[in-house]
Amino acid sequence: MIKIINSEEFSYFLRVNRNKIITIWMNKNEVQNILHRHSLPVIEKNTHLFYQFCDCFISVIEWRATVSECQVKIDFLQLLNNYNVTIADLFTLITKLKNAIEEVIFENGNLSYALQSEIDSLTLQMANDLASNFENIISSNINYKSENSNLLTEYKKAVDLSNIVSKTNPKGVITYVNDKFCEISGYTRDELIGKPHNIIRHPDMPREAFKDLWDTIKAKKSWNGVVTNMKKDGSQYIVDTTVIPILDVDGDVVEYIAIRHDITELEETKQQLRNINKAMKHKVDELYSMTNTLEQKAYKDNLTGINNRENFEDIFSIEIANAKQNHLPLTLIIFDVDHFKLVNDTYGHQAGDIILIDLVKLIADNIKNGDVFARWGGEEFVILTPSTEISGACNLAENLRKLVQSHSFSYVESEMTLSFGIAQLSAEDTKKTLFEKADGALYEAKKNGRNRVEVYTS
Ligand code: GH3
Ligand code: MG
Ligand code: MG
Repeated sequence: MIKIINSEEFSYFLRVNRNKIITIWMNKNEVQNILHRHSLPVIEKNTHLFYQFCDCFISVIEWRATVSECQVKIDFLQLLNNYNVTIADLFTLITKLKNAIEEVIFENGNLSYALQSEIDSLTLQMANDLASNFENIISSNINYKSENSNLLTEYKKAVDLSNIVSKTNPKGVITYVNDKFCEISGYTRDELIGKPHNIIRHPDMPREAFKDLWDTIKAKKSWNGVVTNMKKDGSQYIVDTTVIPILDVDGDVVEYIAIRHDITELEETKQQLRNINKAMKHKVDELYSMTNTLEQKAYKDNLTGINNRENFEDIFSIEIANAKQNHLPLTLIIFDVDHFKLVNDTYGHQAGDIILIDLVKLIADNIKNGDVFARWGGEEFVILTPSTEISGACNLAENLRKLVQSHSFSYVESEMTLSFGIAQLSAEDTKKTLFEKADGALYEAKKNGRNRVEVYTS
């Protein structure tokens, strides 16, 4: 049994039994009720403040200190205020702390009467001190809170003025729309509140586009993207949209706020630019293919599509040089349609054209890949056969002659025939002389009755 008779003994006792006192104090029903009622979590950080509060009580008793001299308890009061604990609750906390101390003492002994009444009056003094501090904190907090809510009002006004704003409940039902929302959508506020938010969904917006939005906001993250919405009159508007989930203290979504900017004009300009780009690309392609056609035209005969004379003359020069350099044979065949003037006169020039096209196709299909086939002019054509001896060229000409004679051309009822002149390149020949030789042979073929092949002989 101990008997504590003076304050030195008392403060020593308090220090030794500090943990025990706090445990009893925190386990008191009324204290737990307060903590529970205000959802005041007794996590490590908060427990620390409860310990400091207890230490402050000890200091008051030990040093006759005033509450404002032990700075630590301010944090404690701030904590209580944050959880909306009342002054009445504060008194209960202090009284219960005093009770916890007395319990520990009476387990082992007792207090002198003088000490008992001194502690009672110190407790009361501390309670009053704390209460006035607490009141200060509460009122400054109210100022802070109202300052904050003024700021929030200003902020909200600014957001409302410059953005399209709406709020929905977690299920997507509209709970708030600002003026801008009504203005752009064409709906009145009454038509919107209580309706599902997809009232403004544009049918062209793919469902997958909204899947990403919902996946994101349900995961309690903000979503941003461009959305096409539909006005009441069915027309569309395009908005850059941010959707923010608002969470309660437990971290559950209580509502979604959507803030949008109208970017219809911007998007339409972008679309116009894309169209212009596309049209320009199309024009460039067109020009490109026109250039291609022009280039082709420079090499090809317009009517039949085979090499024209200019192109042939270039190839002719190259082939002569090549044959001479490599000591290879080179043979030139010239052929001319027999009595073609009569065909034109009988069936018309247009029929004549078609017959020439047919003829060229027939010949082209029956010569080798390496043979050079060209239209020399009118109904006169040339075939240059590189690496081919005169005998091979004669066989080719003879086969073609028979082929044409036996072919039935459109329009003409009688048979069509060709006359051929052939000459082989000799060491002293030029382009001009070789051509003259073959042409001379062709003349011979005409002279000798047409529909025949003649070879140049010196
Ligand atoms: P020959 O047996 O002596 O060669 O008699 P030909 O009538 O064929 O000879 P000519 O040179 O007198 O006539 C050639 C004709 O070929 C004259 C011309 O109108 C015709 N001709 C030339 N080029 C074309 C063409 O591109 N289209 C058509 N339809 N006719 C053409
Ligand atoms: Mg002719
Ligand atoms: Mg002719």
